[in-house]
Amino acid sequence: MPSIGTIAQPLRVAIIGSGPSGFYAAEHLLKQMQLVIELDMYDRLPTPYGLVRGGVAPDHPKIKSVTKVYEKIAAHPNFRFFGNVEIGRDLTHADLTAHYHAVIYAVGAQSDRRMGIPGEDLAGSHAATEFVGWYNAHPDYRDLHFDLSQESVAVIGNGNVAMDVARILASTPEELHQTDIADYALEALRNSRVKHIYMLGRRGPAQAAYTNPELKELGELADADVVVSLEDATLDPLSEAWLADSGDNMARKNVALLQSYAQRGVRGKARQIHMHFLVSPVELLGTRRVEAIKLVRNVLQPASDGSLRPKATEETYTIPVGLVFRSIGYKGVALPDLPFDEKNGVIPNDQGRVLAEGHPLRGVYCTGWIKRGPTGIIGTNKPDSVETVNKLIEDLPNLPELSSENAARETILALMASRRVAYITFSDWQRLDQAEIANGQAVGRPRLKFSRISEMLAVIEAHKGEQVSAD
Ligand code: NAP
Repeated sequence: MPSIGTIAQPLRVAIIGSGPSGFYAAEHLLKQMQLVIELDMYDRLPTPYGLVRGGVAPDHPKIKSVTKVYEKIAAHPNFRFFGNVEIGRDLTHADLTAHYHAVIYAVGAQSDRRMGIPGEDLAGSHAATEFVGWYNAHPDYRDLHFDLSQESVAVIGNGNVAMDVARILASTPEELHQTDIADYALEALRNSRVKHIYMLGRRGPAQAAYTNPELKELGELADADVVVSLEDATLDPLSEAWLADSGDNMARKNVALLQSYAQRGVRGKARQIHMHFLVSPVELLGTRRVEAIKLVRNVLQPASDGSLRPKATEETYTIPVGLVFRSIGYKGVALPDLPFDEKNGVIPNDQGRVLAEGHPLRGVYCTGWIKRGPTGIIGTNKPDSVETVNKLIEDLPNLPELSSENAARETILALMASRRVAYITFSDWQRLDQAEIANGQAVGRPRLKFSRISEMLAVIEAHKGEQVSAD
């Protein structure tokens, strides 16, 4: 048998998931000039780019422009995209290992963490991730309903997702019109009666997980005030000492910004974003739907690792709210036929090599949030995927061989055809992309997203054969 990675036997790799970590894995693989590689990327949606399309806030077009890099990767002649293919439904893990020397799972974290408090399942209590999927036209979430007739909303958590949710709720229709927010979300938010948004952090301003640009931009909204009391913006002695010692510029700037908001005071804007610190939700109150949130005040105490952790006091208070968004982190979901670490919501792995009972599964890898957990920004996925791909290349001599009947690159196409899998190619996606942009431009917006898979497939069918740059 010729070595894997030669013209006689190209290294065949499947990447499952077309978000940033999947694309960075593809990029690093395709940079291996010493190897002949044939790459197939699968996504369960017809559209690529994962959270860049379905997660990044619509008013952050610069962050989304990273897709230009992914388009270049997808243009490589040895790269194929198969959208609308779900692993576990259309193809199994066993199908993949039979057709590829290596499979890289880059599926992200598709669920959310729960608060585990009474009342969490009352109507009006939602995961922030659902709201994010909804306003970003994600097919899984587009039919959800959020009662925006409520005047007061609580957002639990102090991360960038909480920031995104608060900012979208506080933006004016004019601000949102300039974005690619889903058209139905734009309409619902135009009629929103939300006036008070409570951002509730269990620790203090110095421990907030959101980043400076996001906190700054909150203070620059056209018709919303950021309301922070001087008391909330003042650090407790432990945080003060920690901030003075640590070189954490992000935390230092966050604290300075919050203190400037506290000093600026309220400017009479239509909406108010109230930032409360050192509070944890203990119960959502209401009979059939959320009517209020009960909070306990926390103090900070040092943990064994040197961090400052929240500790509940006896003091509680209640805020009347009709909507609650818990924004306390994403969580990975187990994949059929693969090992899974339930506690941490990741695939057990050693630097990207998937482990089954502590031992590497030959030819199976993971990267991104399903590998390390839901942390970091888009760019964090680059070194993460480089690490995984480097392990794969190290393993090259030991990768499993393909059987002779699966040796041709086309056999996977035949298998999908036999199962009537209506896969979408990258050119198909580019036609859909062009249609979304054209529809947006017709109404003075950057893009009008399709949000139903049936709609997407119909548009792709209607535009089949039209020239796109990748053809
Ligand atoms: P995150 O950054 O991990 O923030 C989670 C927040 O939830 C933290 O404030 C955490 O507080 C809090 N929390 C956790 N458990 C809690 C509980 N039981 N009760 C109350 N609060 C709780 O997660 P994320 O906001 O979901 O974001 C995920 C990743 O995507 C992050 O790395 C984020 O930076 C990134 N992201 C980036 C952007 C951007 O660049 N614009 C936008 C969106 C997301 P503790 O700190 O006390 O644990």
